[in-house]
Amino acid sequence: EIGAIADKSQIRAYLIGGIIRDLLLGKGNNDIDIVVDGNPVELIKQLSDFFSAKVLYNEQFKTGSIKFADGLNIDLAGTRRENYHYPGALPEVTETNIFEDLFRRDYTINALAVALNSDKWGRMIDYFGGQKDLAEKKLRALHRFSFLDDPTRVIRGIRLASRLKFDFEKETEDLAREAVLAGDFSRLTSERIIKELELLFAEKINRRLLGLIKNIPVFKLLGIELAEGVDYWQQSTRLESWLEYLKEKNYNIEEWVLRLALFTDKLKKKDIVDWNLKERYKDILSFYLTARDLIETLDNDLDDLRLVDMLNEYKLEELVILLVKSGKVMVEKNIRRYINELKGIELAISGFDLKELGLNPGPVYKDIFDRVYRARLKGEVSTHQ
Ligand code: ATP
Repeated sequence: EIGAIADKSQIRAYLIGGIIRDLLLGKGNNDIDIVVDGNPVELIKQLSDFFSAKVLYNEQFKTGSIKFADGLNIDLAGTRRENYHYPGALPEVTETNIFEDLFRRDYTINALAVALNSDKWGRMIDYFGGQKDLAEKKLRALHRFSFLDDPTRVIRGIRLASRLKFDFEKETEDLAREAVLAGDFSRLTSERIIKELELLFAEKINRRLLGLIKNIPVFKLLGIELAEGVDYWQQSTRLESWLEYLKEKNYNIEEWVLRLALFTDKLKKKDIVDWNLKERYKDILSFYLTARDLIETLDNDLDDLRLVDMLNEYKLEELVILLVKSGKVMVEKNIRRYINELKGIELAISGFDLKELGLNPGPVYKDIFDRVYRARLKGEVSTHQ
């Protein structure tokens, strides 16, 4: 359909990028990327009429996206026409444009396109051997300077390799390592790096990923170095099973931050302060660096009251980091008890009740809640009265 609509508007349209990769691998993908030769506005308009769907249009970048209720998302963009501005849109010119567009992509397996117009419908465009690399499960950069142009591609590569179970082609891996070690990335903002890390760590950590980050020290982009002697595989396995458990219990937990937090043990708190990140995330990422005293105290037999007093102020994510990284049985036992038995305790009185009793809101409320809470912990009152 899209091809027919493009025909009618006399524009060349291509399916491009990750969707082709996933189709060839037999995997599903809800994100459909289409590039059109020239200005995509007309096609975007026609498609939104055709599908009667809502379109988000970005005037500045001349891109549009159509979102469907079932999660399907179509993104449309123009090829970079400005370098190749030949009026008339002859097929050769189109191919040159699509070449330019593909050439600025990250890996050969992502630089495949399929023509949608009826005269060439279904024709695969593969300038860089992407199909062969897909068959051989290899990630190959398009040129020597790819990672210097954009080092976040290294993180994207690790994500792809780990998700698809692919290997980096030897020279590409060397280039990635060299770029990360040698590059001057002062132009790169922490925000961009963290955005890629967020995507990387949205998925479970596996052995391949750990191997890759050892060979290609990609965290260096944020100044992170892996600590010697830490068994990251053991820690990540523990973390994954905790995440699983807490998800079952319906806790809402920011998984990617916790996965990243596994690797921040050699940083200093001030390193993290400069990152362009929500304060909440900074707290979580730097928490373990300053938790030594807490761990020491938690390594003792503690009664309920003491435990609640100590742990109430911490975020669940911070407690999970302690569980996974401290490596101490007693600490783990205490936190487990706190999470399972003490954390969720609700009181049978609320601020509303106190108001009903004629008390004015103020610090006295907190005092009363504290006392009831303590009485509840000691078993003097029950939750449901
Ligand atoms: P996913 O399945 O995770 O969405 P994807 O490959 O579709 O994977 P997107 O982030 O949607 O990922 O990117 C779409 C396409 O844009 C990629 O297939 C790739 O060709 C290109 N691309 C994205 N980021 C970069 C980059 N930093 N450098 C070069 N090309 C990129």
